[in-house]
Amino acid sequence: MRGVVGPLLAVVCGIACAATAPAPPKVTAPPATSSAAPSASPSPSVSASVSDSAVVSASASVAPSASSAPPKLVCNAQTAFPWLIRGSYIPVGSHKAAHQKTLEWRSKQYGYVKPHGDPDWNSKTPHEQAVDTTFMGLSVRMHKRVVPALACVEAELKVACAKDKYKPGALAGIRDHNTYQGGEVTNHLYGIAIDIDPTLNSCCGCVTKWKKHPLCKKKVKSIYERMVMPQCWVEVFEKYGFYWLGHDTLQDTMHFEFLADPDKILVPQP
Ligand SMILES: [Zn+2]
Repeated sequence: MRGVVGPLLAVVCGIACAATAPAPPKVTAPPATSSAAPSASPSPSVSASVSDSAVVSASASVAPSASSAPPKLVCNAQTAFPWLIRGSYIPVGSHKAAHQKTLEWRSKQYGYVKPHGDPDWNSKTPHEQAVDTTFMGLSVRMHKRVVPALACVEAELKVACAKDKYKPGALAGIRDHNTYQGGEVTNHLYGIAIDIDPTLNSCCGCVTKWKKHPLCKKKVKSIYERMVMPQCWVEVFEKYGFYWLGHDTLQDTMHFEFLADPDKILVPQP
């Protein structure tokens, strides 16, 4: 039977809180009126506005609700490693070393996917380390190591992007088959990619059916006009180490993949 875990926030606690926690932690929504001034709090605070992140501490707090609850958890802002970004290693036929480097990283961090790379890199598969979780109230199956990053994103979305009132109706996470051609390997195979509303947020450079979609046919000034998801969501995901494939030639606006360091998603607490 597959491992099943509870909501994202409970997962965060399971990973980073004391094992004897008396109650599941609760994400404390960042104050909606946060200013750009640095917080006087000893712990990093979250900005209500994504654009403030460079000024205010670029972290989100995941705090318990009761004083007797486990220590406060703090999310770490990260950016995607450039060499893991798809555009740096495609076409893979002429970027073999660069592509191989990404396969080795992904395999060692998340599991070996036959036949991509070297089985000696990891004795486990990503599927063996995948868990059922929730994101913004929807179920999705992801690699357990990136679940805390999704929790960080969710906590900040609920504050920074609340004004947009966007609520997705469907998600897609880990896959068991490669959907790329030409030797490339999708991050969905590793359980580190998530699609938001896959039928509504377009991928105009993907399969043929999208080319006929109104969002792909219309003239736009920005890629953000080719999706129903608010731009604010992209900014929050990117703040916590996810790369948005809307920047890519595929224009895959539904797709985020975690390309930062999974060991640095949460700030270690004393
Ligand atoms: Zn995707």
